[in-house]
Amino acid sequence: MQTDTLIVGGGLSGLALADHLARQGRDFLLIEAQDRLGGRILTKEFSGGAFDLGPAWFWPGQLRIAALAERFQIPVFEQFSTGDLVYQEQNGTVQRGRGYASMEGSYRLAGGIGRLVDALTKALDPGMIITNTRLTSVDHSADNVTAQVDQNGRAQTIKANRIVMAMPPRVIADTVTFEPALDAARMQALQNVPTWMAGQAKIVAVYDEPYWRKAGLSGDAMSQQGPMVEIHDASPRQGGPYALFGFVGVPADARAQHKDEMMRLAVMQLTAMFGPEMADPMHLVLQDWATIPDIARPQDRHPVRSHPRYGLPTNLRALSARGVIFASTETAPEFGGFLEGALEAAEHVARTLALHETMQI
Ligand SMILES: Cc1cc2nc3c(=O)[nH]c(=O)nc-3n(C[C@H](O)[C@H](O)[C@H](O)COP(=O)(O)OP(=O)(O)OC[C@H]3O[C@@H](n4cnc5c(N)ncnc54)[C@H](O)[C@@H]3O)c2cc1C
Repeated sequence: MQTDTLIVGGGLSGLALADHLARQGRDFLLIEAQDRLGGRILTKEFSGGAFDLGPAWFWPGQLRIAALAERFQIPVFEQFSTGDLVYQEQNGTVQRGRGYASMEGSYRLAGGIGRLVDALTKALDPGMIITNTRLTSVDHSADNVTAQVDQNGRAQTIKANRIVMAMPPRVIADTVTFEPALDAARMQALQNVPTWMAGQAKIVAVYDEPYWRKAGLSGDAMSQQGPMVEIHDASPRQGGPYALFGFVGVPADARAQHKDEMMRLAVMQLTAMFGPEMADPMHLVLQDWATIPDIARPQDRHPVRSHPRYGLPTNLRALSARGVIFASTETAPEFGGFLEGALEAAEHVARTLALHETMQI
């Protein structure tokens, strides 16, 4: 196979770059290791409602994602935050009260963030996207690059003028080999970039009624006991079914070993915090991102607590002259880590390629 630009990774950054290149009329091929597109974005339907199991929010000032929603006519709405907050202390004591709802003022998309993935995918030529295809090695010794990929267990070669790795830097460091090999400092630079939220897990509990809203609660809650440590309303824009979701505070290894017990405790926690009607959710779903090796690596099992400073490490920049380019959200200097950062990274690469072409004419 041969292409001008090989994009590796079908998350938001890879898809957004594909969209830019398609609109510039450029040739590309996008490969994705998993059997689905979206990467860290995952929206699933339960009883007719769409629920985000990965990212759910964007914020004022994040103009690229707002523009994308507008382009695809996806309605935007504010995170529900009307009502009291609930706090659970380490000993299980529950208090309610007014306070600062941490996600108040953030925006969500009707139908979930997955609608962006669906809309971008639909706008692209399906012949230019190949799922179940994993990059394994990159030869950048010549003027163009040669990628070895594993397509459903079959080794394939793709030649390209450049490769854009729209995948988390740590995944690159752990799973892709380079010929000639990257020096130790560059490998370390890739390893040092934490993949934002990759070690996290979400529990979504879906109900036929918004029992918490009826009790004057916003659904926002913090717990020092767990298993969920931070809870928010995750209901659709209009109508039911309704949902709360919580970020799980249990370490990744324990989550994997004690899943059933953790889910049982999660329902008990919701009941203790929001009322007895919460005891019987219609659906109770765990999405554990730490179990997906194409996104989370062993180092990500101990997630960072504060938002790192992102941006492409300086010693990796020169590789673009050899046709090796990096473009996951973690490479974005302003909004790195966020959905907006994935769009920022894609835009930067698309602009650079367009500029490069203009200068060659
Ligand atoms: C639980 C959770 C909650 C979040 N909440 C928010 C939020 O509310 N707001 C927000 O802005 N952001 C949030 N984020 C972050 C947001 O999801 C990311 O910023 C964004 O989705 C990253 O997109 P990306 O394309 O850069 O990377 P990814 O989505 O990680 O995409 C990388 C892709 O590369 C693929 N890949 C990996 N290795 C290979 C290989 N060798 N060959 C081919 N393909 C490969 C992967 O399978 C994946 O599809 C959250 C993330 C998580 C996990």
